[in-house]
Amino acid sequence: TRTVPGELKWAASPSEGGWEEVSIMDEKNIPIRTYQVCNVLEPNQNNWLRTDWIPRSGAQRVYVEVKFTLRDCNSLPGVTGTCKETFNLYYHESNEDRESYIKESSFIKVDTVAADESFTQVDVGDRIMKLNTEVRDVKVTTRKGFYLAFQDVGACIALVSVRVFYKTCPLTVRNLATFPDTITGADTSSLVEVRGSCVNQSEEREEPKMYCGADGEWLVPIGGCLCNPGYEERGGACKACRAGFYKAKSTDPGCAKCPPHSHSLRDGATICDCHAGFFRADTDPPSMACTQPPSAPQQLISVVNETSVVLEWTPPHRLGGRSDTSYNFPRPGAGGGSVSSSQFCAPCGSDVLFSPGQIGLMTTRVVVSELRAHTHYTFIVHARNGVSQASGAGAAQSVSVSVTTNQAAPSPVSSIQATDVTRHSLSLSWQQPDRPNGVILEYEVKFYEKDQRERSYRIMRTFSRSVDVTGLNPLTVYVFHVRARTAAGYGEFSTPFEFSTNSDPFPLIGEGVNSAFLLLSVSGVGILLLISAAVFIISRRYIYIHTHRQTHRVKIYVDPFTYEDPDQAIHEFAKEIDVSSIHIEKVIGMGEFGEVCSGRLRVQGKREIYVAIKSLKAGYSDKQRRDFLSEASIMGQFDHPNIIRLEGVVTRCKPLMIITEYMENGSLDAFLRKHDGQFTVIQLVGMLRGIASGMKYLSDMNYVHRDLAARNILVNSNLVCKVSDFGLSRVLEDDPEATGTYLSPGGKIPIRWTAPEAIAYRKFTTASDVWSYGIVMWEVVSYGERPYWDMNNQDVIKAIEEGYRLPAPMDCPVVLHQLMLDCWERDRAERPTFSQILNMLDKLIRNPGTLRRTGGERYLQCTKAKTEISTSKVWSLCEWLQSIGLERYRDTLAAAGYTSLDSLLALTHQ
Ligand code: AMP
Repeated sequence: TRTVPGELKWAASPSEGGWEEVSIMDEKNIPIRTYQVCNVLEPNQNNWLRTDWIPRSGAQRVYVEVKFTLRDCNSLPGVTGTCKETFNLYYHESNEDRESYIKESSFIKVDTVAADESFTQVDVGDRIMKLNTEVRDVKVTTRKGFYLAFQDVGACIALVSVRVFYKTCPLTVRNLATFPDTITGADTSSLVEVRGSCVNQSEEREEPKMYCGADGEWLVPIGGCLCNPGYEERGGACKACRAGFYKAKSTDPGCAKCPPHSHSLRDGATICDCHAGFFRADTDPPSMACTQPPSAPQQLISVVNETSVVLEWTPPHRLGGRSDTSYNFPRPGAGGGSVSSSQFCAPCGSDVLFSPGQIGLMTTRVVVSELRAHTHYTFIVHARNGVSQASGAGAAQSVSVSVTTNQAAPSPVSSIQATDVTRHSLSLSWQQPDRPNGVILEYEVKFYEKDQRERSYRIMRTFSRSVDVTGLNPLTVYVFHVRARTAAGYGEFSTPFEFSTNSDPFPLIGEGVNSAFLLLSVSGVGILLLISAAVFIISRRYIYIHTHRQTHRVKIYVDPFTYEDPDQAIHEFAKEIDVSSIHIEKVIGMGEFGEVCSGRLRVQGKREIYVAIKSLKAGYSDKQRRDFLSEASIMGQFDHPNIIRLEGVVTRCKPLMIITEYMENGSLDAFLRKHDGQFTVIQLVGMLRGIASGMKYLSDMNYVHRDLAARNILVNSNLVCKVSDFGLSRVLEDDPEATGTYLSPGGKIPIRWTAPEAIAYRKFTTASDVWSYGIVMWEVVSYGERPYWDMNNQDVIKAIEEGYRLPAPMDCPVVLHQLMLDCWERDRAERPTFSQILNMLDKLIRNPGTLRRTGGERYLQCTKAKTEISTSKVWSLCEWLQSIGLERYRDTLAAAGYTSLDSLLALTHQ
């Protein structure tokens, strides 16, 4: 209203004698319009003042700041009973600016507003000191605009100014994404999800997102953008790389100087060009220096050994700045080859062998074999590297050597065929050796009976490539070798070739005996296998019984699913209760398997106790029965004041029942929501201590809970918290927290409560229970708020992955939030153990002073602190400032005369 020129002319009812518009001068002597009413002497006042229609312009929650002065009723004589010190604020949503009179019934009350400060007759001149400022907020979502109304019921009051505003999260750039100015949501806890757009010259790394909180602050930045190649981040924008610099990929951290022997002349280079005479291979990364092809190999020497040559050389004098030099012996037709003594050039035959190879050699030695005897060869070695092709360089990089091979014996005959077979003779023939290395003068055939080995053999010589071998024994296998002779001598014998003088199939040695033997061996092996299996089973059984006994002694939890017969497990760990000793009274909840009731249990010789009774609904499957009873088999193994106690089970008649102790206050999350803000920090820490103690017991038993959450903690009438919900099946297959779950191979997981390694690869350990415990702490301190509010599961996973953690709930002691953060360490080895958590909480309970420091929102803190100051006489001003993190103002306050909490009580917003 301070900015409105001229009169306001708001609607008033009654139009006379109620609210009146009065122009006054403000503290800077500027005229302002106010409304005043002061009918303190007359009873039953009902004076309404309504603003003009206010368009809401997209806002969903608006704030109304009212500045007003109010007369202290006590300072007015004779007004008892009629004088009031409050007024009421109303609103009414409407699409149009047409309502000329005030229709009281259509207005909804926002609040009754009281003054912090009232004035008396004496100090009425001191206006500034007595001005009250109150802010209220109201959700306006249904119409295009709204009216506000002020109802006076008999106060002496002046409305000095009214300011109506809404909150936005301001335009901002985060992770190179621009987020527009965004109007906050309708509720105080709602988050508005906003998608950012990448700044100029950048691209999306992962969808950029943030949430606009109700107080106009941006929360939980996820994802973001990366500067394009050729650009780098400077001051929240993407700026081009300067000349001499480059950036190849958007994921590179920033522009880098051009590598050696390269340059960039213009801004925004994505790669640097090579200097003249320097090159880059296709596979070279842009960060690599430009390089050159190598010079020729050096000192090529050759050693001839009959028909092979060993070639050795030293690496080129200049490697061109690279380490990928390799050597080639060009293939025929590619410039290399052999030169014969008669100066007739012919390429090497394809049968010449280069060892270890002919192309792409990384060594400086090669053995060339299978050359022709007594022949002139020229060998050319090329040195190459990754840029040889790009540079187009050729002959300058090669070196050659000429050699003449020695005379050599012929190579072996490669195959022998039998062309004619009789009972006493064999006709054999063969091909000339691949490399005769001269004129073949004769062939030598060596043969012997296979049974005789080479103990006695015969030799035959022939000029032709065939021979008839006679005088052989019938039905006998003979082995043949053939070798050739030239002027250089005999070559090697061929490999052995076997032929038989009888073409009948060769009989198996003692066929009948063989099958009998086979039968015997098979049955023998069978018996042996049976014996070893029996020994194995007996030893396993022994080990099982042994370890089983041991586990009982050291109190380790036994998984009921290791029992083949679930009934055996249930009777080992749970007591059978006679159904006649149970009195069911009422239904208190719904479990996965059926109703949960409360009732009484009277066991003979004991006093009657209240119990909770879970029953298995009719028509269950075998699996459901097993899963239902497994919870009792697990619970029955525990005995701890912070673990829900199993009284027994009913399995002998239907319906099946599990009887546990009765927890009057039900589950912890619902209980806290019902009692929002009603406990002291010490009480909350006490609850957390109980849960930690129960969890320490479970972890000592080697039991991993996997579904620790406030909804699975039960509270009794003494506020003792007990861990419950040991249903294995439910955790793995069908958690009731269905909205908080996320399908993974093998079952659903309550995402918001689960450690990242358990979500990613189902690594459930005591350390993942510790993570969940941290979430339970947050749930408890925020009185049952939903972890990560209404963010979706995928965003929760992403945010955690990017390092985001839940902030401290309002009024949360710093030490508690630190403990939560410790539980949420990414590395599970870094998380505290339950034993350490328990010690820490015990320490806090012993020294409650450590719980005073909170890092909550300052404004709310101040308002709240005002009440605290007036009730607490223990704190000094300094202590209180410390507790709200404002100790730096101590000197300023002292300089202005505020040295005690009492003096501070008089402090106003001004
Ligand atoms: P559950 O199947 O264990 O999740 O139980 C379903 C609901 O029944 C819980 O959320 C509780 O509200 C209630 N309930 C279960 N056990 C007990 C108990 N021992 N004492 C009191 N209420 C219980």
